[in-house]
Parts: sequence; C-alpha cells; structure tokens
Amino acid sequence: MRINAAVLDRLDADFVVRPLDLADPAPGEVLIEIAGVGLCHTDLAVQHGHLPFPFPAVVGHEGSGVVRAVGAKVTKVSVGDRVVATFNSCGTCDQCTAGAPSYCARFMELNFGGVRADGTAGLHDDGTALGCNFFGQSSFATHALAHEVNVVKVPDNVPLELLGPLGCGVQTGAGAVLNSLACPQGSSLLVTGGGAVGLSAVLAAAVRDLATVIVVEPVAARRRLALDLGATHAIDPADGPIAEQVRAIAPTGVAFALDTTAVGSVIDGVIGSLAQRGVFGMVGVPADPTATLSVGLIEMQARGLSFKGIVEGDSNPDVFIPRLIELYQTGRFPFDRLVTTMPLAKINDAIAAQARGEVVKVVLLPD
Ligand SMILES: [Zn+2]
Ligand SMILES: [Zn+2]
Repeated sequence: MRINAAVLDRLDADFVVRPLDLADPAPGEVLIEIAGVGLCHTDLAVQHGHLPFPFPAVVGHEGSGVVRAVGAKVTKVSVGDRVVATFNSCGTCDQCTAGAPSYCARFMELNFGGVRADGTAGLHDDGTALGCNFFGQSSFATHALAHEVNVVKVPDNVPLELLGPLGCGVQTGAGAVLNSLACPQGSSLLVTGGGAVGLSAVLAAAVRDLATVIVVEPVAARRRLALDLGATHAIDPADGPIAEQVRAIAPTGVAFALDTTAVGSVIDGVIGSLAQRGVFGMVGVPADPTATLSVGLIEMQARGLSFKGIVEGDSNPDVFIPRLIELYQTGRFPFDRLVTTMPLAKINDAIAAQARGEVVKVVLLPD
C-alpha cells in the first residue's frame, strides 16, 4: 500500500516526509494505522550515526494506532484493535521466557537490523529498499508493520494518539523506578536529566510515594515541571557540584540514583551523591558508544555500591503498559503532561524544539 513516511536519506540529513510503498503483513506481522508516534533520542542516534542503521531509513519507535490488517498466525490482536507498539523481541529465548524481553538474546538484530524477520524490506521507494523494522515498527509514518510480539492492546477510553511513548521512553523511566530499582516507599532517589525518561521516573516515584526525589536539570522550565510532577527538590547543575548540592539536601546521600544523561561528569556527581549501599541505575545512551564507567574498586566495595544497567525499565510490556494506563486512568500517572503534539510534517522543527528544551516529549501526528 502507499503510505507517507518521514525518511532519513543519509547520515545527518533532515527528515523528508514523502510517499513510500509498504508491504502486506507477513506471518506474525501487524499493520497499524499510526495515530501518534513519540520522538525519542534513539531516533536521533540513527540520524547522527551513534547507532548504525541502513540508509535510506524510516525510524520512529513509539507508535500507537489501530490495527488494520494482520498476517497469518496472529492471534493476540485483530483488525480494529487499538494498540501501542513497543520494542521487538524473539519471545522464545531464556530472557524472553523469563519475562525480561528487553534483554532478549536477539534484541539488537530484531530492533536495529533494518530488515524484516525474513530478511526482506517492508518499505520501498520507487523500487529501492529502505532500512525498516526499526524497533520492530518504523513508525514515523501514516502506517507501520509491527509484530504480534511487540504490540499491546489498549482500552478504548484513553487518548490513543498519546500512548506511543509508553512503549519506550515512559516505560523506561517509570520501569527503572518501579521494576529495576524497585525503590521502596519512603526511600530517596536522585534523577539526573529532566527529559521524558527522567520525568517519567519522577512520576513513578510519586506513585511509589518516595520521601525524597531530587532532579538535576539545567533547563529552568523542566525543573519547575519536575517539582510540579512530584519531585521534592530540583537542582541546577550550574549552581555547583552535583554531589555537594545533593548532600546539602540529603547529608548521608541518596539510596537510589537514575542517570539518563550518560555524561561522564554528571555520572561522577551521581556516584558522589550515593549513600552507603546506594544503587545506581543507568539508562542514558552515550554519544560515544565506547564510553566506559569508572569507579574505584575499593570505593565501590567499601561503600557497598551497586551498578545496574537498565534496558526499557526491565519492563514486560504486556504487563507493564496496561499497568501504566491503569495508573493514568486513576490520575496517579499523568504522563500526558510531558507530551506536546505536532504534525509529522513538522518533524524537523520538533527535533529542534526538543533540543532547545522547549518541549519534553513530542508526539508526532500523521496527517
Ligand atoms: Zn528473546
Ligand atoms: Zn526510545
């Protein structure tokens, strides 16, 4: 079928919205008419070569919409169902069967391989194959092919077009607090970076009723929003070393920290902010893929520190996304306050606005 999609023709190019040909769903695939699709850093990592992906490419990985067709053997959803698309996984490896699909043995190839399961392209431009199946969806488009395994059915009485970020950025931040770190009620948490992931962690901290939630963020509007969403303190890194500022609030340090920045100097400040037996969760994607973590071995042991790498908030999306929607419906998880909608045709303007810190999470609406 003919669709419209935002295409990246080459490294560092702007997105160009134009017509493409989308294949029919293969066995296990699901055709979604996209209602909205979030803009996330991982899309820009492809644009700027931090994440290898074949060009020309269609990325986009926080799609939501309505199922319009299903391939053979699909039983989980049917035509007309409203779904959120999340990351892809094999469904059969030891991590998938243990309910930890974000650590799927085939995660990289199934999400970033650039082709469908059978090696073909789902998207063509005048006969030329495009890099597709990004995050199992390539949803910067009016329509996308996802898979039975990476779609989650959602109820009718929620704004479908806003739900896509639950499939990546929101579930990453919220899952880090509720699943990965499993911060107990009354505990203390430091969040570095007040973007969509960091502020989703703040929302989850409010759900769990933490006693102290400190956000480090350079943009004043985002610090105000963090306080509005339940953070107890918001720090400007320009006001002095992070650890000094945190210890002025929590003299013995914080029990938990979540870094969303992957910036070395920030990470040093986080380590300095941890209490004895502190747990450090990491979700940031470094600009340099060879970046490493540096911590003294004696210091780590003497302080009893734990370091935890986190993918997608350790979420099992089939369980966690419905739970986040339930929390949203009862007013306890207002993730929609992070969202600004813009037309898909304005995708380059949306990227610029997000980079300037004017918006937290853009959801693009196909025309
Ligand atoms: Zn797997
Ligand atoms: Zn993402």
